[in-house]
Order: sequence, then C-alpha cells, then structure tokens
Amino acid sequence: MKKIVAYKTLPDDVLAYLREHAEVVEVDAGQHDAFVAALHDADGAIGASVKISPEMIEGASRLKALSTISVGYDQFDVADLTRRGIVLTHTPDVLTESTADTVFSLILASARRVVELAEYVKAGEWTSSIGPAHFGVDVQGKTLGIVGLGRIGGAVARRAALGFNMRVLYTNRSPNPQAESQYGARRVELAELLATADFLLLQVPLTAQTRHMIGAAELRAMKKSAILINASRGATVDEAALIDALRDGEIHGAGLDVFETEPLPVSSPLLSMKNVVALPHIGSATHETRHAMAKNAAENLIGALDGTLTINIVNRDVLTRT
Ligand code: NAP
Repeated sequence: MKKIVAYKTLPDDVLAYLREHAEVVEVDAGQHDAFVAALHDADGAIGASVKISPEMIEGASRLKALSTISVGYDQFDVADLTRRGIVLTHTPDVLTESTADTVFSLILASARRVVELAEYVKAGEWTSSIGPAHFGVDVQGKTLGIVGLGRIGGAVARRAALGFNMRVLYTNRSPNPQAESQYGARRVELAELLATADFLLLQVPLTAQTRHMIGAAELRAMKKSAILINASRGATVDEAALIDALRDGEIHGAGLDVFETEPLPVSSPLLSMKNVVALPHIGSATHETRHAMAKNAAENLIGALDGTLTINIVNRDVLTRT
C-alpha cells in the first residue's frame, strides 16, 4: 500500500478519502527530524505553509508527488522536484473568490480606517461626533493598480470595476484580454502603475523576479496619497523600506495580509502604525474555502500518484521527462 505523509491537519472526510487509497501518516511539520524521516519512505505528501527543501527529500526514493494546499508554491524548489521526477500539485481557482474578498476588505478597511476607528469606539473614545481628523478616503471612482492580474487579481478587478466603479490598471508580463474586455483593465508599465494608482495591489507569485519588486524607489514613485495592499507573499515588498515609507509619509497607508516573517514578530514597527491594517495571512481562510482546498489537494495527490491527474500540476514537464 502507498504511504502518504499529511503535514497539516486535514478535515475528517478528506483524511477518510485519502485512507481509502493509502496509508496516511500524520506528522507535525514543526518536528523537523520526524517529518524528514516520514518523507524518507513516503510515496506522497500533502500539507501547506512549510518549506520543503531538496535536503529534506534527499534519499526519499519512493516519493512521486507533493501536494500543496495552496495556490502559491514558493515553498518548493520546483526545478529540483522536476529533476527528481516528483510531481508538484497546487490548488488554484478554489480559493480565488475568498482571497479576492480578503483583498477588498483590506482596501476598504485601509481607506475608511475601519480597524482604527472600531478600536477607537471600543476604547470608549467616541465622546463627540467625529470630524475631519477621523475621515477616510473614497474607494469608489479611484484607480486600482494591480501588479499580477491573474486569477485572484481578476476577481479583484471585477469587484473594483463593476462594484466600485474603479479604473483598473495592471502590470503583467503578458496581457490579460479577459480583464481588459470585461473590466476595462488597461496594461501599463510598472512606472505608470506606481505613478497613477490610488491603491496598489500586489498579487504576483513570489519568484526570483518578484522578490522585493516594491522597494524604496518604487515606494517613492507612488502617490503620497496611495495605499499599498499586499496579499501575495510578504517578500514581494521590501518590508524595511515599506516601514520607512509609511513612517515618512511617502505613502498614505498599507493593508497587509502577508509579511516577510510570519507570524509577524511583536517587535515589528508595523504593529504600532495607525495607517496599517495587518491581517494574519487570512487570504483564503474561510471554512468553506479551506475545506475545498484540502479536498482538492487530496484529489490532486491521489490522481498524481495514480498517474491520472491532468490539471493543477505545477511542473508539467515532469510528465514528459525522459
Ligand atoms: P495567477 O493566476 O498565476 O496570477 C499571477 C499573476 O502574476 C499572473 O497574471 C502573472 O502574469 C503575474 N506575474 C507573474 N510574474 C510576474 C512578474 N514577474 N511581473 C509581473 N507580473 C507577474 O495566480 P493567482 O491564483 O492569482 O495567485 C497569485 C498569488 O497570490 C499566489 O502565487 C500566492 O502567492 C498569492 N496568494 C496569497 C493568498 C493569501 O492568503 N494572501 C491566497 C492565495 C494566493 P504573467 O505571467 O503574464 O506575468
């Protein structure tokens, strides 16, 4: 019987589904040595949010498939997996809409100071009617600049253009004709995006090209009134430069779901900035979506181990490898 390592807690029905097909060993990925030992004689593994380095799977000669319960796969060395003949699968689409909702909550919360002012009420500080010192800025009618208009960026563009009458600009390496025809999105160079966006959203995968793609120079090139939203991965933004820009008034505020170090250290200056809305990486974190992702990832894994999977494969070239 095949052996699968589950390195994240799975819903009971998903675990039961996997057990119909294989022996499932549940491990705590925080116990590094035990995790590596379990991988050593496994056929497949399923989990999320943990880096799996080439060293960790050295000698794992039976390993045929890794299934991440996420759309992002920056925790893996894809080229190395392909060389080893290991299929990597992920969960696009099922999390697109709930992640776009999180992005929009960050846009609205940052612009309208929802978190800051809710705390003000709870602290009993609302003792007279509010004035300009507590006003926010409009979202409707503004310009949204999206860096990485793919599945999630597209779902945000739909909300922005059709729901909030926003102008949508974007930067991708290739055009997104659907977003252009359906939401009036216009593809521009990054320099134009930075100079014109009222809200700049990062939704790119984390790669060698996108790491720190927003640094001090890019933040300086943004409008002083702009709000930066990051729901991609923390390292697409140079966080130290962002902290400086927020402190120096180079930009107006930030809505952040992701950070260079997660959980965000309590010493981070971001925690004491009123113009920052910080969330604990909740992009896809609803009961419904997280369940759908786990189920999707389990089906991906079984399909990959059976050799029947045709979708959700990150390294398709592994299938044609000679
Ligand atoms: P996607 O459909 O692949 O979209 C990514 C977009 O980024 C594509 O349009 C791609 O267009 C663009 N892109 C890639 N490299 C780029 C570069 N160097 N410069 C400019 N644009 C670039 O992926 P998705 O499903 O929308 O997910 C995007 C990312 O969101 C994931 O990789 C993940 O890291 C993150 N995410 C975060 C959460 C959360 O909890 N906060 C949840 C889900 C996903 P081109 O290929 O044409 O450049």
